[in-house]
Amino acid sequence: MDTFWGPDFGALASADPDIAAVVLEELDRQRGGLQLIASETFASPAVLAALGSTLTNKYAEGYPGHRFYRGCGPVDRAEELGVARACELFGAEHANLQPHSGSSANLAAYAALVRPGDTVLAMDLPHGGHLTHGSKVNFSGKWFRTVGYHVREDTELIDYDEVRDLALEHRPALIICGATGYSRLIDFAAFRAVADEVDAYLMVDAAHLIGLVAGGAAPSPVPHADVVTCATHKVLPGPRGGMILCRDELAARIDKAVFPFAQGGPMMHVVAAKAVALREAAQPDFGRYAHRLVRNGRALAGALADRGMRPVSGGTDTHMALLDLRDTGVTGHQAEQRCEAAGITLNRTAIPFDPRPPAAASGIRVGTPCVTAQGMAEEQMTGIADLIATAVRADPGTSEGAARLHEVRREAAALARSFPAYSGAPDQPGMVPAVVS
Ligand SMILES: *Cc1c(COP(=O)(O)O)cnc(C)c1O
Repeated sequence: MDTFWGPDFGALASADPDIAAVVLEELDRQRGGLQLIASETFASPAVLAALGSTLTNKYAEGYPGHRFYRGCGPVDRAEELGVARACELFGAEHANLQPHSGSSANLAAYAALVRPGDTVLAMDLPHGGHLTHGSKVNFSGKWFRTVGYHVREDTELIDYDEVRDLALEHRPALIICGATGYSRLIDFAAFRAVADEVDAYLMVDAAHLIGLVAGGAAPSPVPHADVVTCATHKVLPGPRGGMILCRDELAARIDKAVFPFAQGGPMMHVVAAKAVALREAAQPDFGRYAHRLVRNGRALAGALADRGMRPVSGGTDTHMALLDLRDTGVTGHQAEQRCEAAGITLNRTAIPFDPRPPAAASGIRVGTPCVTAQGMAEEQMTGIADLIATAVRADPGTSEGAARLHEVRREAAALARSFPAYSGAPDQPGMVPAVVS
């Protein structure tokens, strides 16, 4: 260990006090309030250590054993370990750990499976899809002919009849499922059947879900999909990045689509950190954590429903819930601002068939990865719902509202600090892993 030149906060503090101050401020923000953004989690000290390592210095264009640079022995081992762990954990035949992000993984998957101008059927953005699922401001919407499917207005669940009708009408080359704002499990077998019927590829974007799958708390898309893409930093508590899983027959196409088509040199420190996260996710503790994510998600959605915020689709099967705030008379934008002022970080979201424009929006989205990693359980979810309900209704323009936000801020900080996310001295950033049972 004495030859390890690792993350040394003292070195940063003396070399660059300005950025050191930012790092400490952000650490303080993360542990000083309630983090409820559904796509955020706390990476472990081991993941942070790999990220802060000298692997960042290495150029390794290519894949293990086939690099365009010399000196890749050690980083080859990191990538081989990571790929083997991903295949083992998810029962996949092939894994690519090089995508720099979930969006980069999606770009590569499109590149491997379709050609510009092809038709792609994916979930409409306001109904829960992602920018990379056909938004006009994204490559996906500019380079492909995208057709959007929706949720049903009555149930707010994916309209599988519409998916099939649209597939038969438009004959897409690729069908995508997996969402950024959908709290229910997706029927992958139903999507597979439609894809087979029209001879399309099926890609599952499991950006959020993959962490639940890793812990056995949600069914795996791997047996159903041609390609599974995901982020490694959302529910899976790894480094910021992406990953692609596929069958052997698509392996060469996927690998070429990541490098050299979409990316240059891989971030080997991030690849190594992904390997660390995958090892951690294979431990029994992580399974308990993943199941608790869902229990906490249900508890939080239920408690918010009791306080006048209607869960979209009636609830959740996952770590995330979308809440319709229309009965409170507060917009999603106002709600996220008020919550932030109260030390509760969450984001606004469009709800299906939202009458308001996206900048205002009628909903908020909450997620349980961070608070669950801190060790919180259902009991604390009720308390958090109380704090959200009070903050959302507190008008900061009135002295009474401002006072209430101040009070919620104090309580949110006290709750967060009683389940410390990152503990230790400020010059030793590092997480105490939550004890989860
Ligand atoms: C977050 C997300 C992505 C993109 O991940 P980034 O790492 O932010 O690029 C893609 N698809 C879905 C469904 C997501 O939720």
